[in-house]
Amino acid sequence: MAVADPIARLVKELAKLPGIGEKTAQRLAFHILKAGPAYASDLAGAIAGVVRDVRLCSTCQTLTDKDPCGVCADARRDSSIICVVEGVPDLLAIERTHEFRGRYHVLHGALSPLDGIGPSDLKIRELILRLEREPADEIVVATNPDVEGEATALYLTKLLKPLGVKVTRIAQGIPMGGDLEYADQVTLARALAGRREL
Ligand SMILES: [Zn+2]
Repeated sequence: MAVADPIARLVKELAKLPGIGEKTAQRLAFHILKAGPAYASDLAGAIAGVVRDVRLCSTCQTLTDKDPCGVCADARRDSSIICVVEGVPDLLAIERTHEFRGRYHVLHGALSPLDGIGPSDLKIRELILRLEREPADEIVVATNPDVEGEATALYLTKLLKPLGVKVTRIAQGIPMGGDLEYADQVTLARALAGRREL
């Protein structure tokens, strides 16, 4: 590359980000350079801070800078119902509906044998241990309505039902192959309200 080494180094790091190609990385690098030292320092600080300060909530496994997280610490939330989601963006999408007053459990993925993702790669063991500690009446499985999400829902049902907990699945309305994160609030609220027992 015909640019100074520090620029090449930044471009190389930026290009590792999802959706960022070499060209965009170069554009961003020049932008950062132009924006000046204060911005560069803020950006570097924010990046370092996110890795340093964000951890998993020991109860629900969401990303948080406080443990327990805001939802788990909120005594007004109904602890008898736990909504299981694949990722933090799904939790945020459901929170935006303002329809769900229970608690969450974040799996950090979905079962995908083809990609080598099995139960031990997800926060399933943490869910079981949590239920042993604080039993719930209902588990709402709100994984995505795609092959991996459905496989995960089936697996969880088989695992959880023998524990005597009611397992429900969010209703259709989220299109098959769709992504909870991008569902509009009304569709998502309806899917939650129309959940059925598994
Ligand atoms: Zn939590």
